[in-house]
Amino acid sequence: MDATLMEHQKLGLSWLRKMEEGSNKGGILADDMGLGKTVQALALILARPSDDSLRKTTLIIAPVALMKQWEKEIKTKVKTHHQLKVHVYHGAGKKCNFNRLRQNDVVLTTFGTLGAEFKKKKELVNRMAGQQAENLAALEELPLVGEKCKWYRVIIDEAQCIKNKSTLNAQAAMELQSIHRLCMTGTPMMNSVDELYSLIKFLRIGPYDEWSEFNLHFARPIKSTNNSERTKQNAMKKLQALLKAILLRRTKSSLIDGKPIITIPPKHVHQVQVTFSTPELELYKALESKTQVTFNRYLRQNSVQNNYANILVLLLRLRQMCCHPHLINDLSINTSVKDIPENDLKAMAAQLGDDVVARLKGHEGEGFECPVCYDGVTNPTIFIPCGHNTCSECFTKLVDPQRAIQAGDERAQPRCPECRNDIRHDRITDFQHFIKVHMPEKDDDANSGDDEDGDSSSDSDESEDDEDETLGGFIVDDEDEGVTDNDQGDADESKVQKPKGKGKKSKGKGKAKEANSGKSLKFKKTLPQLKKESMRNKAAKDKYLRRLKADWITSAKINKTVEVLQEIEDNDPSEKTIVFSQFTSLLDLLEVPLSEKNVRYQRYDGSMKASDRVDAVNTFMETTTCKLMLISLKAGNAGLNLNKASHVIILDPFWNPYIEEQAVDRAHRMMQKREVHVHRLLVPGTVEDRILELQERKREMISMALDETAAKGIARLGRRELGFLFGVNTLD
Ligand SMILES: [Zn+2]
Ligand SMILES: [Zn+2]
Repeated sequence: MDATLMEHQKLGLSWLRKMEEGSNKGGILADDMGLGKTVQALALILARPSDDSLRKTTLIIAPVALMKQWEKEIKTKVKTHHQLKVHVYHGAGKKCNFNRLRQNDVVLTTFGTLGAEFKKKKELVNRMAGQQAENLAALEELPLVGEKCKWYRVIIDEAQCIKNKSTLNAQAAMELQSIHRLCMTGTPMMNSVDELYSLIKFLRIGPYDEWSEFNLHFARPIKSTNNSERTKQNAMKKLQALLKAILLRRTKSSLIDGKPIITIPPKHVHQVQVTFSTPELELYKALESKTQVTFNRYLRQNSVQNNYANILVLLLRLRQMCCHPHLINDLSINTSVKDIPENDLKAMAAQLGDDVVARLKGHEGEGFECPVCYDGVTNPTIFIPCGHNTCSECFTKLVDPQRAIQAGDERAQPRCPECRNDIRHDRITDFQHFIKVHMPEKDDDANSGDDEDGDSSSDSDESEDDEDETLGGFIVDDEDEGVTDNDQGDADESKVQKPKGKGKKSKGKGKAKEANSGKSLKFKKTLPQLKKESMRNKAAKDKYLRRLKADWITSAKINKTVEVLQEIEDNDPSEKTIVFSQFTSLLDLLEVPLSEKNVRYQRYDGSMKASDRVDAVNTFMETTTCKLMLISLKAGNAGLNLNKASHVIILDPFWNPYIEEQAVDRAHRMMQKREVHVHRLLVPGTVEDRILELQERKREMISMALDETAAKGIARLGRRELGFLFGVNTLD
């Protein structure tokens, strides 16, 4: 092996050998995610080759989403001098005849391919009942499940995918002829004891591979309500004894000789103070006063709960203002609908029922609360037909195949987090298109005369759009009209929320326009339009970045980030850094000074195609010249490995401590060789300080919560916590 095995992996390998050499001929490797199950399986393939040249192939069955990863692991982890001959039997790779397939050391295939072939086999068998001969050869030479098809070893990755014994995939797996069998899964303890039966049946562990036996000894006594507690416990003990004989599971906290199996170098957290420039401070203070006025009004009216989504959006504006004054203009991009044509999005919106439409209309100008991350969102992804919605980052994760694999069915439909109905990635729209269809009078694009291709826009429209992209208007407002007066404060606030909307016609805006008209640049498309297009291809992205650069201004956060990156580089040029933000637009703005300094970097966020995200990770992990990765905080999932990075910069804090911890763990994980430094950039005396304080409080509460539901409830912000974040009351 190219990668030398870690201590627990060596023990795992000798356990696997023992299993194959023993009477069971295989077993279940159920190590926790991140402990290297794949490496151990590959080590087994190399350590115990077949001595029968006619029966030498190991068949590996895995979810489609993991095919590429397996290929890569085999390529990188296995030394060239005992390179394995590998064939991917999936898609184009299916054009491979029966005998050629058998000359490989390893054949990789998917559950879907296996299930489809099994279905074909059943059809052939049915047809054979009447007549003979001509179908016989076809039946015998089915490449995976044919009668002639004898494997040396079959490995099922993510074996929870065969937990339901009545599915085609599970039946196909059980049908495979092989000497050795191995199941790999990170989640062996499933919902019911029945689900374990599929694995036992696949492994052919007698006598329990017969359902009647398994049911008699385990399933019935454990599930039955008639049995005494003792009968149940006895059955449970017996099952545990069986599992102990065939299953190996270690977690990250398991010990070997009294020492943890994994030791990761320590991590250090540094608070990096960011100081606002004078204009930034003024903008922030003005916005904070306005939001306080509004929040206090809700408190007085006892309507915090009714205005919850709107309050979250106000909070979002404050958080954004801490990062960059341009951010609050550029929120409405929904990345999950980018590949769906405009007309389809409108057609989807038109399919919503009357009651759903009425419900959604109520959110206009108010915003939404994402039911997954509990953050405020102005332009959510809306599911058809139920009309429930999430932020676009959470939607991307909901429909991520990885999620279905963990749940044990790679083809499982993702469910709506509110009503549990199926959701489909192509049966969605966003709130912007909902407005176009159901509230055209509120549609900014239509009313401001913008055109999709920009050609028909008049000069005055263009310059007006440019006004919208600076914050000049707000600065003038604040000086002219003050911020303490209650009614006026509300009027101003409506502009802060929707800079392209109602505020446009107000007198404050008019003044701003006069003040800025001299230096106003003229562009055909708005920045949000260009950003939307930038997700389609590289050329559009370059165009967007050029435009971003044209009226780019820096911010205290951006300056500090560049400074920290320079310090890291000066200190040790071999170190790599990942930068997290909740705002992809902030990462865009950071790209401007980085590209000016010719810094190489990769992006990773929900707007990218899955294959592009994989490429970005590979480039970051494998090339020494690429030392920087910019990631959207909510896009990184638990499987994402970026352990070549030893610095983590968090640009903006989030109140749920676990989202941040998960981000840091992308770098601070197994096989990390260096100490990890976390740099948290914070503007003192702002909402960011308070978020950090709340984070600590939440951490304690969540660690005391008994189950996941309770922990989730704590992740949502209560009234007192909201007041604290707006700076109008203390936490206690
Ligand atoms: Zn969300
Ligand atoms: Zn729903």
